[in-house]
Amino acid sequence: MGQLSFEDDCLIRELDSRYYGFLDLSNSKNAEIRTLVQQTITNLQNYIANGQVHDSKNFSDNKNAIQKFEPLTQEGEHMENTSSQNNDETKPYDTNANEKVSTIDEKLHDDHYVNALCKLGHLHLLLGEYSEALSAYQKYLRFRENNYWTNHAFIYGIGVAYFKLRCFKWAIKSFQELLYLSPNFTCANEVHLRLGLMLKHCGEFHVAQKHLQLALLYTYPSTYSELQVKFQIAHLYEVQNKHKAAKDGYEFLLNEKNISLELKADVYRQLGWMYHCVECLGEKKEREANALNFLQKSIEADPKSGQSLYLLGRCYAGINKVHDAFLAYRNSVEKSEGNADTWCSIGVLYQQQNQPTDALQAYICAVQLDKDHKAAWTNLGILYESCGQLRDAYACYLNATKQIIPGSSSLIRKKQAIRMKKDTIGLSKGLSQRITFLEGQLSQAPLPSITSKRRQLCSIEEAWNLPISLEMNSRQQQTAQMLPRQVTKQSPVQGPPPPYPHSQLSQSPIPAKRIKEDGTGHQEVTQNNSQTSAQNLINISESLNQRNFNAMPESNKNSEQSVVDTFDEISNDIYKQNETIKLERLSHDALSNNEDSRYDYIGADSADLSTTFKIQMDSKQLMAAVKLLPIDEPPVHCTVLQVNAPPPSPPDCPPQKLTQDQLLPPTPSVHLENKKNAFSPQLQEFCLKHPIAVVRGLAGALKLDLGLFSTKTLVEANPDHSVEVRTQVHQSPDENWDTSQGKRVWACISHRSHTTIAKYAQYQASSFQDSLKLILPQDESDKGFPGSQAMSDSDSKDSVSNSNIVLKRKKHKINSKMLRFGTNVDLSDEKKWKPQLTELQKLPAFARVISAANMLSHVGHVILGMNTVQLYMKVPGSRTPGHQENNNFCSININIGPGDCEWFAVPDAYWGGVHNLCEKNNISYLHGSWWPVLEDLYKENIPVYRFIQKPGDLVWVNAGCVHWVQSIGWCNNIAWNVGPLTARQYSLAIERYEWNKVQAFKSIVPMVHLSWNLARNIKVSDTKLFELIKMCLLQTLKNVLHIQEYVKSKGVEIRFNGRGKNEASHYCGQCEVEVFNVLFIKEQEKRHVVHCLSCALKLSPSLQGIVCLEEYRLSELQRVYDSFTLHRTQGLAYTQ
Ligand SMILES: [Zn+2]
Repeated sequence: MGQLSFEDDCLIRELDSRYYGFLDLSNSKNAEIRTLVQQTITNLQNYIANGQVHDSKNFSDNKNAIQKFEPLTQEGEHMENTSSQNNDETKPYDTNANEKVSTIDEKLHDDHYVNALCKLGHLHLLLGEYSEALSAYQKYLRFRENNYWTNHAFIYGIGVAYFKLRCFKWAIKSFQELLYLSPNFTCANEVHLRLGLMLKHCGEFHVAQKHLQLALLYTYPSTYSELQVKFQIAHLYEVQNKHKAAKDGYEFLLNEKNISLELKADVYRQLGWMYHCVECLGEKKEREANALNFLQKSIEADPKSGQSLYLLGRCYAGINKVHDAFLAYRNSVEKSEGNADTWCSIGVLYQQQNQPTDALQAYICAVQLDKDHKAAWTNLGILYESCGQLRDAYACYLNATKQIIPGSSSLIRKKQAIRMKKDTIGLSKGLSQRITFLEGQLSQAPLPSITSKRRQLCSIEEAWNLPISLEMNSRQQQTAQMLPRQVTKQSPVQGPPPPYPHSQLSQSPIPAKRIKEDGTGHQEVTQNNSQTSAQNLINISESLNQRNFNAMPESNKNSEQSVVDTFDEISNDIYKQNETIKLERLSHDALSNNEDSRYDYIGADSADLSTTFKIQMDSKQLMAAVKLLPIDEPPVHCTVLQVNAPPPSPPDCPPQKLTQDQLLPPTPSVHLENKKNAFSPQLQEFCLKHPIAVVRGLAGALKLDLGLFSTKTLVEANPDHSVEVRTQVHQSPDENWDTSQGKRVWACISHRSHTTIAKYAQYQASSFQDSLKLILPQDESDKGFPGSQAMSDSDSKDSVSNSNIVLKRKKHKINSKMLRFGTNVDLSDEKKWKPQLTELQKLPAFARVISAANMLSHVGHVILGMNTVQLYMKVPGSRTPGHQENNNFCSININIGPGDCEWFAVPDAYWGGVHNLCEKNNISYLHGSWWPVLEDLYKENIPVYRFIQKPGDLVWVNAGCVHWVQSIGWCNNIAWNVGPLTARQYSLAIERYEWNKVQAFKSIVPMVHLSWNLARNIKVSDTKLFELIKMCLLQTLKNVLHIQEYVKSKGVEIRFNGRGKNEASHYCGQCEVEVFNVLFIKEQEKRHVVHCLSCALKLSPSLQGIVCLEEYRLSELQRVYDSFTLHRTQGLAYTQ
């Protein structure tokens, strides 16, 4: 291996993941650099091979970290190219290595070796060798599990590698951490864009939009154009069914002068398809004309687009222009051969033309290209059924219903998967009916060998085993087209189905009108009309695709994919313009460091100055230390956690295996006899000791007048007061079904709207009246008081004992009806709700809305629903989906009655497990509405408390406890949050505060502002609590000082602004992080918007045009910081 020249050494030293996308090594102009990079890779590989003797140490300790980062193959994530390689890399190292006495030299050598792995990752990445890059990065991570987060180029690199390999879950995790650690990272705009694309792909539209908007803010060099991002934002609207906004977005782009042809083709394609699918865009005829027009324009703009041709075919088929449809499909196949959707649609067309053999081949092409193509499997089943081949039909339906099984490639594996319990796999309603029907038929049918009946189509196994390689060849197709058509046969058909109609096209076309969306009545289907039912199903599977993005729509999925891919292709062109500038800069830096080491270009870990900051410092020492920090770059990251803490992430569940009993623990509860009980310190201790507790009989013991919160009183007091409404499906409390798919799910429907107290009261009352009419005459034995138990005995759906069909059907009807839940009624206004709020002062201090012992009373301003009271108005089945309280504060909830509520709760130590299950179910833990499937929790060794809250009972939800609640009867509840002054509460609150930043979720408790107020207002004698608060003060004061130094170095003046009385704390108008003390104001659309430093820098790297304001004098902060000391007396120094 040759020694690098000085210049080459400097060049390689500079290269890391940040050049990805900016340095195009496939360009012949960069051939020299490419050779150099390749040579360096060889050198590094040799070096690493020789250095491996040092690497086995502590391997077992590192295993956990590795598992956290291994790209487990996820549903919907495609790892075809990489899985084998990755598996190799996950093998532990050779553990026979020599154990040597570690010397300083070796330590240095080892560091060097480990960093070489990272460099290797970077270089592979720049060459576009993503699997190799990932492999090297993962090895690096094993050695750096305790400080990888100081290496931002590494996190960026591994994130890009995951992204390119479509391991989105891991790419998202890496990128989120990177933005948390370094919001000003050189490629932060690239990170925001990719996060936006991936989160859109995962259905997390709200956060996706936030990231795409942030990507637009930057003035940094980028690999994408502003218009491309705006296209993505418009597409984001489209997938959320916000058609008007999407249409406006697309049309805006078409009016831009400098739009590229490719982007234009994309815009036309999306617009065309929207016109085809979306009814609200006008009258059908007009829409279809627009759709064809736009799709043709798309094809004109980009004649290579197979996708647009395919959609054009769909439009033609939709208006029954069969010939044109076939033409378009054929062209599409020629442009993009491996498209399962196109083959599926070709099959539909053939089937409609009564060409079953051709249809069969087309579907087979589709399912061979995409083994999980639900629509193709369904249609194939229908085809077989229409030809009387029930066994084949049955197999196909089962394949259509199976969930994607990683690694399953053979039909046999599929058939095994099929035997899973039907309710655990995704059966759509029509399919499950067909399957049940066929099961019945097949159980009575004679064995196939006995039947002498000739089969019309070859069996699924035979069809599957036809060679496919040639079939995708379009010339072959044209040849096949000329062959005489084989109508009925047992011998397999050679060659592909020509994507072209046969001569008898006009013979018996089935009018599209006859295809209706009527999914009912399948049970009665016999062989005679099975063709009709078949058409129904085709229509269902196609129309679903058009409307429902979340249900794996073939078209959207693919346009999505092509959108991602296009982005990468186009961006390469732009890179080329930047590369010269960047590389020139390299040679400037070259002079700075000339050490005589052959591998010096590998680079060393950056020294971390922040370790010098300790809470023992006084403010003067702190200021002196800040002066030593570099100010050429903006301050990286403000955390309120410990110095050098890793980025927060959900914790593993406690490892202890729980018994059946422990999984269903009894709920801690206490019954109050009198007022004295309620005010005893033991009650507070009891509550603080348990994850959740129910205090029974509280209202009685305190003589609380709950009637003040009854619907009647509320209507009398403020009839026009606003109520937020959630529309939900009524279900049994321990179950959550996706009715359209007929399976248990976590995602919980909860649509939002608004009404008034008076109107909701009317609804609540009439729902109660209706229930009396419905239930009492029907089932006299159901004598329970309608306000409490009448609806709670919901039949578990497979109940065999219930032979009363009439009753069961009625009940079923009730259970699947929609209900409206009146939630988040704001009772903060002291004038409007004086009697109610006064009544609540009877509560013991620890449970009161406002008290000196409640952290939330020290915020100094209102946080609606947290330090004010909220009211909930319920009918049976009203659901508060699973959640932890905002920033992990405790909560108080009192049931007003008359009905009961059922509670489910998981101790806070297990929240990481619940989070992971949400992720598995593709639902956002923080943003989504979810209702846990209890069995899933038990399987993961997660315990669940379950109990009934009766009228007058108070539920205490301790810090961090995950809970979900459903009303059994008609009732109202009141609730608010409290923050006991304990180290546990404070640490859980700031941990969540930091994790929210990682997740781009707004913390509605401004923890920094609150911490400074706590330091002013209270004396703390608990050492742990003191240290935590002091650490927050230290970190924020350091950050404030550092920001001020940086701002001054930019020549920007900081103006003192002060704070108004009760002024709310500030959040960044862009990224929603809390902004403390130094505010960056920019006028946007005639409003003065507060920004954090990072977002201000995105808008204006020089900070020109931005006003910098200060909320507190530095002397004031110093005084508070210095005088906040551990209070050495017994007990906490506040009064209750
Ligand atoms: Zn911001």
